[in-house]
Amino acid sequence: MKYVLITGGVVSGLGKGVTASSIGVGLQACGLRVTSIKIDPYLNTDAGTMSPFEHGEVFVLDDGGEVDLDLGNYERFLDVTLTKDNNVTTGKIYQSVLDKERKGDYLGKTVQVVPHITDAIKDRIEAVALIPVDGKEGPADVCVIELGGTVGDIESMPFIEALRQLSFSVGKDNFCLIHVSLIPVLGVVGEQKTKPTQHSVRELRALGLTPHLLACRSAQPLLDNTKMKLSQFCHVEAANILNIHDVPNIWHIPLLLRNQNAHHSILKQLNLLSIATPPDLE
Ligand code: ADP
Repeated sequence: MKYVLITGGVVSGLGKGVTASSIGVGLQACGLRVTSIKIDPYLNTDAGTMSPFEHGEVFVLDDGGEVDLDLGNYERFLDVTLTKDNNVTTGKIYQSVLDKERKGDYLGKTVQVVPHITDAIKDRIEAVALIPVDGKEGPADVCVIELGGTVGDIESMPFIEALRQLSFSVGKDNFCLIHVSLIPVLGVVGEQKTKPTQHSVRELRALGLTPHLLACRSAQPLLDNTKMKLSQFCHVEAANILNIHDVPNIWHIPLLLRNQNAHHSILKQLNLLSIATPPDLE
C-alpha cells in the first residue's frame, strides 16, 4: 500500500479536503485505485452530534456512518463508497484502547499515549486502507490520508507521531507528504508572504515529517520569486510546489493540479512512474 498524507499549516479551512480529493482524482486518472481516510482529531466519536453551524454538513454514508463533510467530497470526487471506518477520530481511537484496557488486553502494562494510542492509530490506518471502496475486489493501490486541523495543534500530536512512525515503517517509496499552506498577501505591500509557510514546514520537520510537496493556497497564482523562496527555505523542489489559488468552483482544482503536473511529482515520490500512466495533458 502506498500512502499520500495531506497535512495543513497556518490556518484551518484552507482546502485540505478539496486538495486531498483532487489529488485522488489525479491518481485515478493515472490508472490507480484510490481509497481515502479522514482523520479528525476531536474527541467526538463521529460528527453525528455536532452542530452543522459550527462544523458544516454532517455527511451520512451508505453504512449509516455520520461523518465529516470531507468524506462527502471524497465520495463525489472519487466515485467511491466509503465506510464509517474511513473517518478516524480521537474518540474512536481512545474508545478502542480503553475497551481493550478494560478487557485486560494490555497484560498489566501502563497504558499510554505512546505507544498504545499511536499503535492503535497506525493499526487502524493500515487496516482501513485495505477496505475496497470502489466496488472492485482487493485493496486499492494508494490511500490518501487527510489529517484534519493544523500542524502544531495539541490535539493532532498523537496522529502526527503515529504517521511519522508509519512513514518510517512503510519506507520512503511508499509515503508522500503534501503540506497545504497559506500564502497571504499584505494589502499595503502587495507581496506574497512565505514566512507563515516556512514556519509551519519547520514545525512539521521538528515533529519528524518532511513534506515532499507543498500545496499553496493563495488569492492569485504564485509568482516565480515566491516559488523560489519557498523551495529554498522549505527544502522542497520547485517542481513540487503547487499553486492552489482561489477558484470560482472547486471542480477546477483537479485540473489546476493536473496542469501543474502534480501527479508526476507524486508518482515519482511513490516510485510508481513505471506502472502508472499519466493522463494526456491535452
Ligand atoms: P479544510 O479541509 O482545510 O478544512 P476544505 O477542503 O473543507 O478545507 O475547504 C474549505 C472551504 O474552502 C470549502 O468551502 C471549499 O469549497 C473552499 N475552497 C477550498 N479550496 C478552494 C479554492 N482553491 N478556491 C475557492 N474555494 C476553495
